[in-house]
This record gives sequence, structure tokens and C-alpha cells, in this order.
Amino acid sequence: MTLNQEEARRYLEEFPVIVLEMDLSRRKFVIGLTALLGKVIAPSMLLAANNLKPFHVVLPPKPKQSFYKEGRRKGGNILIIGGIHGNEPGAYKAVDILSRLDVIQGRLILIPRSNFTSILANVRGYNGDMNRKFASLNKTDPDFPWVCWLKEHICLNDVNVVLSLHDGAGFHIRNKRAWGECIVIDEANYKEWSLYQTAAWVIGQVNKDVESPWHRFSIYNTHTFSPFTTHREQRKSLTYYTLTRAKKPAFCLEVSKQLPSLYLKVKYHLLMLSYFFKLYRVKTDPPLEYVISNLERYLYHHPQFRLVFRINNHPLEIRESKTIKIPPKSEVKLEKIYSENGVFVSPVGINLNWQQFRVYNCLQLNVKQDFQTMAKIKFLAG
Ligand SMILES: [Zn+2]
Repeated sequence: MTLNQEEARRYLEEFPVIVLEMDLSRRKFVIGLTALLGKVIAPSMLLAANNLKPFHVVLPPKPKQSFYKEGRRKGGNILIIGGIHGNEPGAYKAVDILSRLDVIQGRLILIPRSNFTSILANVRGYNGDMNRKFASLNKTDPDFPWVCWLKEHICLNDVNVVLSLHDGAGFHIRNKRAWGECIVIDEANYKEWSLYQTAAWVIGQVNKDVESPWHRFSIYNTHTFSPFTTHREQRKSLTYYTLTRAKKPAFCLEVSKQLPSLYLKVKYHLLMLSYFFKLYRVKTDPPLEYVISNLERYLYHHPQFRLVFRINNHPLEIRESKTIKIPPKSEVKLEKIYSENGVFVSPVGINLNWQQFRVYNCLQLNVKQDFQTMAKIKFLAG
């Protein structure tokens, strides 16, 4: 079977990074690609390849952001983790808001975006479910450094409790198999901790402020330790790791994906957190009650950004959507992103795990704040 010119162009466009990975000359690459596809090369393909204008792109590493906030007055120490599932913005936006507050009593360790690649892609797990990677994980898994980083925080000596925030599907009060609007515990009691009692008290308080009966919170006990559990997969989760390996209490706080607005998802997360703060004697400035009643102000804003590129060693700053023409074989390096937390670039059609790659003719970089695209930067080689 022979590739015609159009097919050759299409395959080259679909597999642009093979060149980078193999680091071959064009002729060897064409042969390599042919072997990969199990097809015989046509001379016209070399012609097609001549029309392609490659350039090389280098992006900065994705930031792993954690925040340590300690008050002058003594209190408990809570580790709060958001965004382990990338399509759950209520969870990571709530932790992001906390990272902008001061702590006046106790201590907060905050990780708003524990799975930033999935957040940028707005999918549950760009590399599979990260919340099933805590029992064991191959070092070649792209999530490996992120899971190790989370484990380091979970195992910090002075952390008293770990809270993992999620936006789950459905409403647990209506459907006992749904994960939304509940606090998930792995067992009613584990070691000296009464996980059920704590969750029940928090839920009892929160439900006083929940207007719709369908939105009320309840407890989801997965009985993860029981030989009869229907949730064996939970033994690979962050909370199970925290209980058994770090030997600390852990809870999953779940609002519902089906709540009508991001506002309500974040509000319910902050409400649950406000009662955990009372239990563990943590106070913020301003207090969480104030933040909840002025949530619009904390939630919605449109950050500015400044991207500092170096293109063939010439500096270039970009602050808005733009199309940039570059010579073929250029080196496009994004050196720095100046903006707020959660702002990063997402190359369209490229594996989001890659920090550098070669493309042909054009590339679109979406400037995103989490799941929202703020601007589009296009590079055209020619
Ligand atoms: Zn989740």
C-alpha cells in the first residue's frame, strides 16, 4: 500500500512529535514513520515533507503550588487538598480562595491544584484517576511526581487532619450510590478517631444553611476496611493512604457536580470547611463566614497576564490574544508567566504532559485560568 501526498501530510501532522522523540533526519524519520504505519513510502511524500515548516516549542514546568499559613494563636493544623480530579472546579476554587486569606489561629496547608494537568484539560484524570494511585504507582506514570508531592505533605508530622475536596456526581441523599453532597468516610471508627461522629456534626451544622432539601448533605461510609466492602478501589485512594500510612484522620468533602452554579459548589465547600475549622480551632482573616457572604467578590475576576517568550533568543512579551509569524526551524521558548494562580498555557492538539515538542507550520497556545480560556496565541511558521 502506498501513501499519497495528502495522506502523507495528514500522518505527518498527526504524529509531529515522533520527529522529536526519535531525533532523526527527515529521510530517516520518513522511513521510521513508514515502518510505524506498516506502509510503503511514495516519492511524493518527500515532496509533502518539503512543504512542512517545523519549529520547536519549550514550555515552563507546571507549578506545584502549596501554601503554608500559620496564625499567632495556637490551634490545629489542617491539610486541604483540591483538584485531584480536574473537572471539579468547586473543589479547587474553594481551596484557591483560602490561599488568599490570612490565618490568625492554627495552621492551614493548602494545595488547591493537586492535578493541574487535568484541571487545564478540564477532565477527571488526564492520565487516569489520580485518586487510585496512592497504593502503588509506576515511576513512568506522568502523575508520579505529583502523587509523591502530595504524599510528602500528607506525611508531614504536625498535620492533624487531611481534607480532600471533590465535586461528585448526583446527590447522595436521593441516591445512596451517588457521590455528590456528602462527606465520605472509609469507616465509622478507625484507630482512636470517630470519623462518623465528626462528619455527622459537620453535616448537621451545614444542613442548617442548605435551603433545598435535595441539596442536604449526608454521610457516605464506604467501609473500605471491611472484607465485604463494595468499594475495594478506595484502598488505592488518598484518604485510605492517609489513614493507614500517614496515620491521620481523613475525609472527602463532596458537593454535587449537578448544583446549578459554581458559586453554590464553592459556597457549600467553604461551609463544610468552616465547621472543620471550628473543630480544629483554625481562624482566618477575614473569617470564612464573611467570605461566604461576599463570595461573588472572591470567586469571579478576570486576571491580567504577561507571557515572556524568547523566540530565537529575542525576547517577546504578550498580554493578549495574538498571531505571531516566525521563521521555520525557530525555537519558541516560554520563559515566564506573570499572572495569578491557576494561569498557564495549554497547547492545542499536543499532549499536555510534554514540556517540549516539535510542531509543523502552526501552533495555538491557549492561555487558561484553570478550565477557562482567557486568550489564544498563535504561532505561524513561514
Ligand atoms: Zn472527585
